[in-house]
Amino acid sequence: MAAADTVELLKQLIGIPSVSPEHTPDARIAGEERLACFLAGYLEEQGFAVSWQDRDTGRPNLLGSFGPDNAPATLLFEAHMDTVGVTGMAEPFRARVENGRVHGRGACDCKGPMAAGLAALTPEALDGLVRKGYRVVFAAVMGEETGNAGAIRLVEQGLRADRAVILEPTELEIVHAHKGALWFDVEVKGRAAHGSNPERGVNAIVGMARLLERIQKRHELDRARLTHERLGQPTLSVGQIRGGTAVNIVPDQCCARLDRRTLPGEKGADILAGVRAELSDLVHEGVLLGGEVKVIKEGPPFHTDEDSELVRALGRACEKAGLPARLAGSGWFSDAGPLSTACPEVVVFGPGSISQAHTCDEFIEVESLRRGVAVLAALCRELAPADSTRKAK
Ligand SMILES: [Zn+2]
Repeated sequence: MAAADTVELLKQLIGIPSVSPEHTPDARIAGEERLACFLAGYLEEQGFAVSWQDRDTGRPNLLGSFGPDNAPATLLFEAHMDTVGVTGMAEPFRARVENGRVHGRGACDCKGPMAAGLAALTPEALDGLVRKGYRVVFAAVMGEETGNAGAIRLVEQGLRADRAVILEPTELEIVHAHKGALWFDVEVKGRAAHGSNPERGVNAIVGMARLLERIQKRHELDRARLTHERLGQPTLSVGQIRGGTAVNIVPDQCCARLDRRTLPGEKGADILAGVRAELSDLVHEGVLLGGEVKVIKEGPPFHTDEDSELVRALGRACEKAGLPARLAGSGWFSDAGPLSTACPEVVVFGPGSISQAHTCDEFIEVESLRRGVAVLAALCRELAPADSTRKAK
């Protein structure tokens, strides 16, 4: 597809609101269904067989499949349809092109990368892949911005692929590993008393402070022990805290919300067991009366080997398109985490910069978009035949 056509396609995608319902109360712009309908028409026109997942919910996944169902291998392109909210944006759905940039909500996260993926899958590219033994699946998914629900559903409903490209704005870096995310609440209990007689109570906020210190110390030990060649060390951040009801009442409860980013090989259950052990020690010591630890979200990390065919082919594709092959790991989380449980080779790749995502002036450079299409088209040509996939397994 010519660069101008990709820009036109992107403008159309931006023009169809698909704001995550968790990010807007306005039903006219919320949800992915409108965009999915457009994509269904587009993919059908390109010769894909289209199927829906959970269409009746109004928050569907859409799948387009090209090539025989019993092909030796499946190549998946995946992009999320949902965007973040539009507060503070004047005309979020009226895409405009200015100074070589396409502006609008979703321009870079994730409609730009999505347009690049669609544009790369020309009839020639698709036929070439089928000749090499691939079935090509394009998955447009819901709910990425609020917990990867669409990607989780893809896996739960049986999607499997041998090689998967998750289209996200990576500045055309080949992200072949990212950390996992473990978000959890720690709720602790104390005993209320009048603020003038604190010795009669058990101060849940003070207890929480002690607990957080111990959790932090335990985390420092993890950091000293764990390091990943691409991702560095795991991280921990206390994101929210609330507790107490008034200045003159000893608080009987406190809740903190923590964000722990995990490395491949780490288990969420082990981390939570450590937190629970610290909590029960403090209860034992009388610093707290009780408490519990609850998971809000757990997303797996992923790591695809640098020597895998997908990473190598994408590297070759970058060079064919005149770009250096830049491999990277990332601290952010994406659909690649859940999909890595169903796909042995996964990369996150696409035009645009993550620093532009979620901003009030979201844009993507037309040049980046053009290069993204060129690299993805070259990937279709560079990818080794599917039977080598089987051998590699
Ligand atoms: Zn995204």
